[in-house]
Amino acid sequence: MGPGPSDVDPRVLAAMARPIIGHLDPEFISMMDQVKTMLKAVLQTENELTMPVSAPGSAGMETCFVNLVEAGDKVIVCQNGVFGGRMRENVERYGGTAIMVEDEWGQPVDPAKVEAAFAEHPDAKILAFVHAETSTGVRSDAKTLCQIAQKNNALTIVDAVTSMGGVELDVDGWGIDALYSGTQKCLSCPPGISPVTFSNKAVEVVKARKTPVASWFMDTNLVMGYWGGSGKRAYHHTAPVNALYALHESLVLLLNEGLENAWSRHDLHHQALKAGLEAMGLELLVDEEYRLPQLNSVVVPEGVDEAAVRSALLQNYSLEIGAGLGALAGKVWRIGLMGASCNRRNVMQCLDALENTIREQGIDVGQGAAQAAAKVYQN
Ligand SMILES: *Cc1c(COP(=O)(O)O)cnc(C)c1O
Repeated sequence: MGPGPSDVDPRVLAAMARPIIGHLDPEFISMMDQVKTMLKAVLQTENELTMPVSAPGSAGMETCFVNLVEAGDKVIVCQNGVFGGRMRENVERYGGTAIMVEDEWGQPVDPAKVEAAFAEHPDAKILAFVHAETSTGVRSDAKTLCQIAQKNNALTIVDAVTSMGGVELDVDGWGIDALYSGTQKCLSCPPGISPVTFSNKAVEVVKARKTPVASWFMDTNLVMGYWGGSGKRAYHHTAPVNALYALHESLVLLLNEGLENAWSRHDLHHQALKAGLEAMGLELLVDEEYRLPQLNSVVVPEGVDEAAVRSALLQNYSLEIGAGLGALAGKVWRIGLMGASCNRRNVMQCLDALENTIREQGIDVGQGAAQAAAKVYQN
């Protein structure tokens, strides 16, 4: 129950154990087509350039930035946690100028600040932001931020690593131009693959570049020779065959459940966890309006040794929860309810284990957590 990797369904693990076939085998190519079709369904997009990058979420991030940013480009980068900082690094490493819009950790990106940044830099080419900030548990209003970018004729790059599969995500409806995600959060698939999608407008921008894409491996013009449209597929790199079996199976599971059902499952178990935490007198960091159901930042109460609690949970209950990052290190725990980890048994076990462990540190947290959570399930 940390911030990823999440638990993986046994069906996904079983899919991974199937025999390897060639990465250009006709059967494999037909499976690749199914993966693309299912990714489009989950991302709610018709984008032709939708594919899984053969590397973790961070490589999906690099794929978006290395293709779209050219030397001298201005990119408005929103930072309200760890992952916005990485976007800035990307922009600068590829020769762009990052115009920073900063919000406090635990707050969403403020659209008014983004409007102000465009007013000051009307020539900004791209707006980049994190939809679901895993370091804090905040959801930003992606739809509104994309509208602001469109009004200013800018492209958007969106980090949806933690949002995909856990909360509403509508690539075409919101007009997102480039997006990257990851397999190990709410898709409940082993880590190491990063779904990306580029709008036709973004593809045109890549094609019209004055300089070649600095990364050979991540140049979409080359990768699409393997992942692209119909017809002949050419060798680009050896795809991680078994990891893609796993992604295929996890997408089948998600689409069988139904996107909206998956989102409401995340919300239900979040509500139960929240009720239990509140019954213990614990506080969530993020305001209800912006809270991510799949990542719960819990304020560490006064007098509690946060690292000792985490290691006791691991030792005594085989339960992993996450620590705070950066500005929030030592101040919060991060409890993940992602994908297959997001279920009633985990919520009840986590509350029980946390209650016992905090009590062992001499802090009175009452005994009502389980009951409060159970009440949510009865409603
Ligand atoms: C986990 C995460 C990443 C990085 O994904 P990796 O698979 O670890 O490379 C990027 N952005 C966000 C918001 C994340 O939660």
